[in-house]
Parts: sequence; C-alpha cells; structure tokens
Amino acid sequence: MQRPKGTIDIYGEYYKKLNYIKRIFDDLCDEYNIGYIETPIFESSEVFHRGVGEGTDIVTKETYDFKDRGDRDITLRPEGTAGIVRSVLENKMYTTLPLKLCYFGKMYRYERPQSGRLREFYQAGVEIFGDNSPLMDVNAISFMVKFYERIGLKGIKVKINSIGKAEDRNNYMAALREYFKPYIDDLCEDCKARYEKNTLRILDCKTDADKDCIKNAPKIGEYLSEESKEYLNKVLDGLKSLGIEYVIDDTLVRGLDYYNDTVFEVVFNESSALGGGGRYDTLTSTLGGPELPAVGFAIGVNRVIQILDEEDIKVIDDGSIDAYILPVSENENNYAIELMSSLRDNAFKVDMDFTGKKMPAKFKEADRYNAKFVIIIGEDEVKSNKLTVRDNLTKEETKIERDNLIDFLDVNI
Ligand code: AMP
Repeated sequence: MQRPKGTIDIYGEYYKKLNYIKRIFDDLCDEYNIGYIETPIFESSEVFHRGVGEGTDIVTKETYDFKDRGDRDITLRPEGTAGIVRSVLENKMYTTLPLKLCYFGKMYRYERPQSGRLREFYQAGVEIFGDNSPLMDVNAISFMVKFYERIGLKGIKVKINSIGKAEDRNNYMAALREYFKPYIDDLCEDCKARYEKNTLRILDCKTDADKDCIKNAPKIGEYLSEESKEYLNKVLDGLKSLGIEYVIDDTLVRGLDYYNDTVFEVVFNESSALGGGGRYDTLTSTLGGPELPAVGFAIGVNRVIQILDEEDIKVIDDGSIDAYILPVSENENNYAIELMSSLRDNAFKVDMDFTGKKMPAKFKEADRYNAKFVIIIGEDEVKSNKLTVRDNLTKEETKIERDNLIDFLDVNI
C-alpha cells in the first residue's frame, strides 16, 4: 500500500520543523493580538465555489469535490479564507469589529504533484475584518515579513500591486480582451477558456508566463481609479515607515476572485512563492453577509520547510535529551523509573531503556539521543542514594547525592 500521490507522511525532523514554524506563527499571532479559529476541513461546495470564484484555477481544476452519503455536495478546503468568512457570518462574529483571526491547517488541491506542489499541504494564515485602513494592509504584510525573518530566511522579497475595485477591473479586462484578440491562438488551452470570462487569470497562467504577449500586455495600473491609486500609495508609505522593502509587480493579480486593491506575495530568491494575500472587501457580501472590509494572507508552510532544507538552515535544537538513565540490571529498574518521573516533573527531558538491552547497547542508545548526561544506577547507587552521573561528552563521571541531582542538572545543562 502507498500513500496517495501529492501527500506526505509527517514525522521525525519534518514534524519538528512543522511544530517549530507553528510556534513562531503562534507567538506572532499573540504579539499582533490575533485570536485562533479552526473551521472544518470540509464545507458545502458552494462556500468555496462561490467564495474562491467559479472561474479560478482552484475551483475549475483543483478542488476535491464529492457527494457524501447524504448526497450533499462537499469540498475539501483548498484555502482558508472562504471557510472562515462562512464561519464569521454564521456565528455573527462581526458584531464587534475589528475581528482578527488566524489559522494553521491542512488544505487540499488536486494539483499535478511536483516539487513544492502537494495535494495535501499546510497553510498558516491571518484574516482581519472590519478595518479598511491601508495601515491594516501594512500590518498584515509586516506580520509576514517578521515571520520569515524569525524563521531565519534571508533573501525574501515582498511583491505588491493594486488590482483596484471591481469597476477598474472590468475596464481593464475589456482592454485585455482587445489586446489578446490577435494572440488567442498562441495561448494555452486553459487561457483560451479564460479569455472571455476570466481574462485577468491569463496573466497568472503558469504555462504561458514567459510569452511576450503576456509580458507586454497592458498593466492594471493604467486602469486604477484615483481612489485606488491613493490607497496603494498609503500602503507603500506605511511599508516605508517600517523599513520594509518591496517591489511593485504590476503583473501580480493572484489566482483568486475575491481580492480588490492591495495584493501581495512573498517570494524567495525570485522564484518560489512562500505566501501571499490581499484585501477582499466584498467577499463577506458575496457569501450572503453584510459588507465587511477585510485583509488576509496565507503562508505555504511546506514550502517554507522545503527552503529551510535546501538552504540548510537549522531551525530547531539538536533534538538532544538532558539525561539518559541507565540501570545496571533489572533490579534497579523501579528505582530508575521513579527517578526519571521526578526529573520529568522538573521539566528535564529524560529517557531510559525498558527492553533489557546490554550495557554497551544502552550507552549507544544514550549517544543516539544525544543525551547530555548518563545517569548510571547500580546496586551501590540504590543503597547509598549516590548516583554516578557521566558527562556524555567529556565522559567525566561525578558522584551526586540523589537529593542534589536536580540542582546539579540545573547548573550544568
Ligand atoms: P495561494 O493563496 O494559492 O497563493 O497559496 C499561498 C501559499 O500556499 C503559496 O504561496 C504556497 O507557498 C502555498 N501553496 C499553494 N498551493 C500549494 C501546494 N499545492 N502545495 C504546497 N504549497 C502550496
């Protein structure tokens, strides 16, 4: 039996990295005064189909849609935002605003599995409702930047653009249709289908990205209203005052329908997108609620782990334990297990062998766990309550009174 394509088993080092990233993310959420939300992994299909947009790649090609045993249309969540908006509306969380929420969880997209592209992957994200200030966009971008900095990733780049309001986009799409008319035959099959209704999506097509007709297409900047231009400038001013470097990327449109005005993405070494987001002031009303201004982003957690590995960035402790307890024979096992329990109560990381391995094998085990100390317990130690504590690096041994052991470890670890 094999796991499904595009999925990974998470254990060992990978799991530790995932947890490490989650801790950094959680700390930042606390510092930014953002509360946690967890929505179901599956929702009624309409949540994502209407929310993310019928014409987007995610919905037309990538959602895991199925009928459940009650003949309901169900979709595994391909992203976090639409489900959270559904929850905010259903639970009427919008009575006190602003509302700041974060999540960390698995997402599902039926993509062609390849490096950096999984069918089941983790995203960590933030959604903020009820504040239409450009400074809230700055706040969101600054969170992302701090996140990557704390992880230890150097060389990230913030790309930003404005896609204006719906009216600006409609004018722009009409101009794009005019422009692409002579090039339709040069476009990939997907883009041909996008031409009529989702012209904007042609710009972020992965297949056609390098074609001249895409690069030379009219830019959204020329179609923005004064209001949207001013909004973008305020966001840029805010980023400057925080010293956050950015590049304006006028081809950045993002692959989801719900954005307006600010869109942004964080990339590493020009290529790999590590996360992105933007403002979405109309999604709550699209999903049947009151109109609430909102801004959010999602971080691709597996991509971050991949870059950490590629760049050989060590992010976690060496996985060492503080002490490995080594009873000389079975007679000392109960004494040893009780000692281990009391050390754990004092927050030391401790382990011992229960399987009756021979002494040399037990010492090897201590090395495998990178134990800082090995505590050897034989008949004499039990009788005298004086333990043999061996520094596993220098191999130096010291006799320590059992009552003084915790103090000794406190000082030496
Ligand atoms: P998106 O909202 O689609 O831009 O996704 C946000 C981030 O999630 C991306 O920048 C990626 O880092 C990550 N991501 C998106 N799709 C996948 C996938 N299929 N596998 C792994 N990570 C992904």
